[in-house]
Amino acid sequence: MTLHIHYDHQCGGCGAFYIPYEEVICPNCGLKEEERFDFIPQAVDSLLFNLHRYGSFYPPAWAVTSLADHILRILFVVFEGFRQSGESDFPAYIHQLLEGGDWGDQFYLKAHISGIAIRVKEEIDKLGEFFDIKAEEE
Ligand SMILES: [Zn+2]
Repeated sequence: MTLHIHYDHQCGGCGAFYIPYEEVICPNCGLKEEERFDFIPQAVDSLLFNLHRYGSFYPPAWAVTSLADHILRILFVVFEGFRQSGESDFPAYIHQLLEGGDWGDQFYLKAHISGIAIRVKEEIDKLGEFFDIKAEEE
């Protein structure tokens, strides 16, 4: 099993898809919307659940059914790639990884997802369990 986040949002001003967490404004048009969604703690839970259960941030199966799940899938790739890379500069790693993505008309999502990843990493670092985690015995 995996922990999904069922959340979709489009900016009321420009229609861009993004997650209005914490103080984040629309990454496309800059509108500050009323709506707030507490994405970061849920993303931390989903990532760490995978790591504890499967020994990888990237789960064996993941069906994307919402915008939040789509962003989580990218976070799984980023965090697992970083964990295995031996790199120490997380922001530089994300920048390099996402640079190669095909963003099409959603280029604003690149900076948005980088911001989310950095916030999630801060929270995981506070828990002090980024590395050295083994999969649970089946
Ligand atoms: Zn907007």
